[in-house]
Amino acid sequence: METIAAVSTALGESGIGIIRISGDEAIDVVDKLFMHIKEKSLHELDSHKIYYGKIKNHEGNVIDEVLVSLMRGPNTYTREDVVEINCHGGRQAIMNVLEAVLADHQRVRLAEAGEFTKRAFLNGRIDLAQAESVIDIIRSQTDSSLRMSLGQLQGRLSKEINKINGQLLNLQAKIAVDVDYPEYEDKNKTLSSVNKTLNLVYNEVEELLSSAKTGRIIKEGIKTVIVGRPNVGKSSLLNMLLGEERAIVTEIPGTTRDTVEESLNLAGIPLNIIDTAGIREDTEDPVEKIGVERSKKALSSADLVLLVLDSSQELSIEDNNLIELVPKERSIVVLNKTDLDAKIDDKTYNFDMPVVWISALYHKGIEELASIVKDRFLSGEFDVVNDVIVSNVRHISLLREVKDILKQALETVNVGFPADIINIDIESCRQKLGQITGNSVEEDLIDHIFKNFCLGK
Ligand code: GDP
Repeated sequence: METIAAVSTALGESGIGIIRISGDEAIDVVDKLFMHIKEKSLHELDSHKIYYGKIKNHEGNVIDEVLVSLMRGPNTYTREDVVEINCHGGRQAIMNVLEAVLADHQRVRLAEAGEFTKRAFLNGRIDLAQAESVIDIIRSQTDSSLRMSLGQLQGRLSKEINKINGQLLNLQAKIAVDVDYPEYEDKNKTLSSVNKTLNLVYNEVEELLSSAKTGRIIKEGIKTVIVGRPNVGKSSLLNMLLGEERAIVTEIPGTTRDTVEESLNLAGIPLNIIDTAGIREDTEDPVEKIGVERSKKALSSADLVLLVLDSSQELSIEDNNLIELVPKERSIVVLNKTDLDAKIDDKTYNFDMPVVWISALYHKGIEELASIVKDRFLSGEFDVVNDVIVSNVRHISLLREVKDILKQALETVNVGFPADIINIDIESCRQKLGQITGNSVEEDLIDHIFKNFCLGK
């Protein structure tokens, strides 16, 4: 395969930057630029070791002092020969080294996004579900999300999918015998064994799908809206949540006009607080300000609504209006300012929603809030390290299709259709499952999947 090169670290000021080169010519391309301290050629040096020296450009000028990792295939990320140049981390230093590598453009070209991982997949080191986990690992913003993706990289999901596929394959073999040697097989016996296996597989697929909700939340976060009338402590609550665990704070200018989103980590649960623009500016009535229609839209698209009330004051008309407005099944009442004397009693006032008492000013009540959110969203106990959790939208939709086809096949069995007709459904289930692991997948789709990767991975 062609030799490819790219910067594998983020471009910006940092201690080191890494340029990764992979392919048949990788070692030779770098060898032409690298001046080893002991003046040895990379060709004569041992694999899987790091060498110190300088990099010169094609005019012979030294452009950086570097460490070069030499890794001969197949025990490499891509299974090909891989060389990584560790240079200084400044943008210019990195670009100079990359340019020197790419100057040999007859033999090396810039890698496309995700191309190294794509090669790891095409060369059989990992399957497609494992390859897809790489991007999830990179994008993980919480420990749970990272550990879930690492589990997928280790092949936990693939193993489950392969097991199901194996069960279907065995069933197909049985059906084939039945079709080829009808005189030896009892039709009813075959149908009952088809029925049994399909039911078993159906339950396994359903179980995988039941993890999807948890998977999506761990991966993407809970879309959260904070509402409340002015001065109840919305921005104080937001600050308390942001301060906790020194969350990764990202200001994402929304695609819609003026939505601002902030991601934070509430005891391991990622929350994406939407519409923080509305919270940050106080004084006016938030509902009035952002418009009732837009508030309703924000409330209806949210997974979670935190309705903040000031517990040191009687409920006002505005409070009551908001209590009516929020979707009860997805909302939590946050009674703030518990450090002051309480004027609201949640025992006599039936909110019809879970209630948590906090003091945003004194950072009190965060654990209780986290535990209510966990109960609401992460159904049952789950173990990000050992459970198979499906979180990839592509996998989820394929599993849903498999479930539908299995349902249809089971109906066909119950009507007593010949097993060879059911075989068509089984075959299409196997195809769909194969698309998860990449055994049966079109080239376009592979290209599409890896295009979402970052450069240099
Ligand atoms: P927002 O308008 O809903 O965003 O409210 P702010 O967060 O700006 O808070 C309004 C006022 O209430 C500020 O003076 C805060 O310091 C105060 N406040 C917020 N949370 C608490 C709390 O837990 N206890 C007390 N005593 N004051 C609070």
